[in-house]
Order: sequence, then C-alpha cells, then structure tokens
Amino acid sequence: MMLLEGRIAIVTGASRGIGKAIALTLAMHGASLVVNGTREDLLRELAAEIQALGSGCVIYVGDVSVQEIAQGMAQLAMEQFGRIDILVNNAGINRRTPTLDMDLEEDWRKVLDINLNGTLYTCMAAIPHMIDQKYGKIVNVTSTTAKTPHRNAAPSYGTSKAGVNYLTQHLALEMAKHNIYVNAICPGPIDTDMSQQWTSEYRESVLSKIPLGKLGTPQNVADAVLFLASSMSDFITGEAINLNGGTYMN
Ligand code: NAP
Repeated sequence: MMLLEGRIAIVTGASRGIGKAIALTLAMHGASLVVNGTREDLLRELAAEIQALGSGCVIYVGDVSVQEIAQGMAQLAMEQFGRIDILVNNAGINRRTPTLDMDLEEDWRKVLDINLNGTLYTCMAAIPHMIDQKYGKIVNVTSTTAKTPHRNAAPSYGTSKAGVNYLTQHLALEMAKHNIYVNAICPGPIDTDMSQQWTSEYRESVLSKIPLGKLGTPQNVADAVLFLASSMSDFITGEAINLNGGTYMN
C-alpha cells in the first residue's frame, strides 16, 4: 500500500546513512522530495535513485544551520511542487569530546547550531506553508541520548537532541490547531558507516547492552518515520518514540 501518494516531503541530511533510507522509503510510498545535505555528488546519486522509482526529487545543497539555507529549501519545495506536507529533520552531527576538553566552537556551538538551530530554522521555513495548507507532518530524528546521558558522547550532542525533543512538544502544542503534527524518533545505536569502523570488542560491548541483542538499521528508523509521516499516526503528536532495542525504556 502506498502511504504517501501525492505528498511532498523535505528530508535534511539525506545524502547518506539514516537520512538516505528515510528519503528512499518516503519515495517508495509515493512522496516527491526535496533532499538536502552538503555533499552534492551523493545527493545527485540519490535523486537519480528516487526518480528511477517514479517519484519527483530535487536536491538542495547546503548547511541547515544557516537560516537562509532552510528558507531556500522550503522555497524550492514550493516552486517545484507547490506544497510541503512532510518535513523530516534528520541532519545531525556528533562529537565525543568530554566536557572539560571541548573546543567550544567545534564541539559545542557547531553541534547545537546544526542539530538544534538547524531544526528550528527548517521548521520556521516550512510551517507557514503547512499552516496555509492546514496540514503538515514534522518528524525530528533525535537520539536516546536526548533522554539519558551517554558516556561516549560530548554533552553538546545530548543537549541538542534534548532541545529538539522539547521543541517537538512545544511545536506540537502550538501547531495542533493548524492540523500540523510534530513528533520525534529517538534511535539508539544504528548500524551505519560509523559503526562499521568499531573494533570487534567495542561492538560486543555495545551489543551486550541492547536487550534485543542487535543494532538497529537505517531501515528501522525509516519505517518509524514513514509511520509518523503518514495518516497511520493521525492521533499522535508531541511524542518522542524510542527506537533502541530496549536499551532505554520510559
Ligand atoms: P551520518 O551517516 O553521519 O549522516 C549525517 C547526515 O547529515 C549526512 O547526510 C550529512 O550530509 C548530513 N549533515 C550533517 N551536517 C549537516 C549540515 N550542517 N547541513 C545539512 N546536512 C548535514 O549520520 P546518521 O548516523 O545517518 O545519523 C542521522 C541522524 O540520526 C542524526 O541526526 C543522528 O544524530 C541521528 N542518530 C544516529 C544514530 C546512529 O547510531 N547512527 C543514533 C541516534 C541518532 P553530508 O554528508 O552531505 O554533509
């Protein structure tokens, strides 16, 4: 069943990893897309894959932490497709530096700028169009670290993701009267390029802490995004859904 026939979606950080799986999954379900990232070569390859599926796709290269980029992305969606039904804020970076060793520019401000401010900017750019349409689905990709601290992450990462979880609830409350749904997904360890570089010892130690005994896949996250972007979730807003194999439950 095509869940997103005729829908128009923006996906940030779509050039690889989880974002790419999200973009392809939304396209397979009938959505046309604006895909964003900073790597133009990878975005062009993705756009060709999406067009081969029979869905429309245009790329928008740029850094989501620049407000004009977020505005430009929404403008492109309106020019090309005439509406914005779905916004997936997936672009994000991580740092592992402990608090007292952080370089404030690289390890703190940059993480907050991309993960938190970038999400705010794209929401501010897309929501006015969603209000005009009286419809919108926003899905923010955060992290288990938004809810419980992680020893191997810089504090900026969890702070930014917790900030996005709060923003999710705030926007859900403020925008409900416009029929705009705002939710978050909080993944635990997902098998991406980064985890391929782990030593076997580190991999074993990560797996030992996951009750389901396996890493998540980008497709697991994409399937949850599909649910929240479709009418299957039409009584859910302001949620931050755990997707972590049972690692953290609340
Ligand atoms: P990834 O493989 O490193 O991919 C990150 C994506 O974000 C890339 O497409 C990258 O695009 C894009 N990006 C980074 N900075 C950007 C910026 N300033 N402007 C626009 N795009 C930018 O990461 P991932 O593992 O797929 O993670 C995706 C999301 O899931 C992130 O928000 C991450 O925090 C979250 N998450 C991941 C895990 C995990 O285990 N992997 C767990 C929990 C949460 P370019 O390469 O083109 O710059």
